[in-house]
Amino acid sequence: MRTVVENAAIATVSGPEYRTGFVVVEDDRIAAVGPGSYPGPVDERVDASGCLVTPGLVNTHHHLYQWATRGLAADHTLFEWLVALYPVWGKLDADLTHAAGTAGLARLALTGCTTVADHHYVFPSDGGDQVAALAAARERIGLRLHLVRGSMDRGESDGGLPPDRLVESTEDALLGTEAAIDRYHDASPGAVLQIAVGPCSPFSVTEQLMTGAAELARRRGVRLHTHLAETRDEEQQCLAETGCTPAEYAEKLGWLAADVWLAHTVHLAPAAIRRFGETGTGSAHCPTSNGRLGTGIAPVRDLLDAGAPVGLGVDGAASSESGGLGEELHQALLQARQRGGPTALTTREALWLGTMGGARCLGRADELGSVEVGKLADLALWDLTGLNYAGIEDPVAALVLAATPPLRRVFVGGRTVVADGRLRSGEEAVIAGELATASARLRER
Ligand code: ZN
Repeated sequence: MRTVVENAAIATVSGPEYRTGFVVVEDDRIAAVGPGSYPGPVDERVDASGCLVTPGLVNTHHHLYQWATRGLAADHTLFEWLVALYPVWGKLDADLTHAAGTAGLARLALTGCTTVADHHYVFPSDGGDQVAALAAARERIGLRLHLVRGSMDRGESDGGLPPDRLVESTEDALLGTEAAIDRYHDASPGAVLQIAVGPCSPFSVTEQLMTGAAELARRRGVRLHTHLAETRDEEQQCLAETGCTPAEYAEKLGWLAADVWLAHTVHLAPAAIRRFGETGTGSAHCPTSNGRLGTGIAPVRDLLDAGAPVGLGVDGAASSESGGLGEELHQALLQARQRGGPTALTTREALWLGTMGGARCLGRADELGSVEVGKLADLALWDLTGLNYAGIEDPVAALVLAATPPLRRVFVGGRTVVADGRLRSGEEAVIAGELATASARLRER
């Protein structure tokens, strides 16, 4: 099957931009890209007049289950917010996680996202098969999922924040993570589902779990992820307990390396930023969530200058209620310029963060993140024909600076997931209904 997307502006991200050009999709890969029109034979033509074609966006940090717990603790600090929400999350079961995951993935598809890293660290003792629930949600919506099998082993009785019933023993956490790798991790080219290892955060897990997770990930050849250096409170606690900043603690435990990407990394000393660059440690920058919780502005410019990979994330919908990735391009640009001035991040760099930067964080830069021959056909066709965009000279500026545009199409591996602004891989009304039922059930518990 050969499809040509034609008459569109194209931002390839890795190479040239075309004011009017084409992309040929053959099965699940990009077969050709260039200016003007495509002369060869095709089976299907997609008219993308007035659209900007970009790589599908890559979301490097999410907690899909939180789609069912939005709008709570709306005026709280991170630690207050966690203490308020843990008891609610403790009531999750697999059906709730499936409904929330399906809705969260649908929302992401409708905002140009084609690959999602979901950090799932909530495994209530009576919560059923959480990993299977998320894998099934992925199957329904058709996005690529990097499922980070998370864990917590430090409950209230050990000085942690989560209630004890929400945490696992260190051994169970590692066994459960390895079981997820055995069952779901696909290391082959074009994979739609991969597993990563992700203790929740240094302040909610023991040192044994941090080091055991790193050992497990390296033994199995999968990637490592956790939250790091999100707030000043976390830094104070880490200094008090370990004598190290969060970044120093991470390095001591083998967690600054090219197979690691870390959520937030807001509070980093210059020496830590240098170490991120030297080691190739990635950052999942989540500007909306950081703004919602008032945690500070991540040093994105400095990380990029140090040579460290930086991607974008929406973070969980309990701290980023919109859950859309397109608007994070906008937020990343605004926050970088608020921190570092008007030249701190260009519109093209914001798009790079949301595509190639994310692909590098997830170890998929050879297959994802740019519109290049041989890469997977994960594409977003942003429709710039409406009132919000009419007359904007530069289509990339329209995408990054204006409201998130609707999508004429979203392809994942050549398969249409969104068309004409509507989800094609599922019924939005059905998914919304399932979520409403699940959320009501959660509130009644
Ligand atoms: Zn998070």
